[in-house]
Amino acid sequence: MGIIRLMLVVGVLVVAYFLLRSAIREFRGLKGPFQPPASREDMVQDPVCKTYVPRGSAVSADVGGQTYLFCSRDCADTFQKQVGQS
Ligand SMILES: [Zn+2]
Repeated sequence: MGIIRLMLVVGVLVVAYFLLRSAIREFRGLKGPFQPPASREDMVQDPVCKTYVPRGSAVSADVGGQTYLFCSRDCADTFQKQVGQS
């Protein structure tokens, strides 16, 4: 009787283990692979200080017929001066 009871306990443990493992897999599948936030796509890099700023709050300036985006008016002025000098 002892052996049968032991086998039952082991069987229950094995079933519990597989159920737990599949549950963890399902949970991980729901989360999916890491993806950067969508807002990251709307980030633009300031060509002067190399800072990333949201497109919506970036300062735009036309330099040499092209539109550039900056983190601040100061960076836009710096860029315009740099382009003007060269
Ligand atoms: Zn800047």
